[in-house]
Amino acid sequence: MNIAYLTDRPELPQGEHNYQKAFRWLLEQRKLKLASGTDSDITFRHDSWCNVYDGHLCNCRPDVVHKGKRYKYPAKILSQP
Ligand SMILES: [Zn+2]
Repeated sequence: MNIAYLTDRPELPQGEHNYQKAFRWLLEQRKLKLASGTDSDITFRHDSWCNVYDGHLCNCRPDVVHKGKRYKYPAKILSQP
């Protein structure tokens, strides 16, 4: 999974999911280093109330987990619910 895949899917609603913002921030800050451009070991865990479950933009503060490790990021980079 890479950023282009996450952001260019036409079936996704307009705008950017919070999980995409978190993922991009982690990559840009080099907190999270992927072995290659594609990596399927990323998991995003959403809150139960997150809009993503209704087909809308993720508006929670999802956990970003890569190979069992949870990565922290600042809440201020996200859209607030
Ligand atoms: Zn979410």
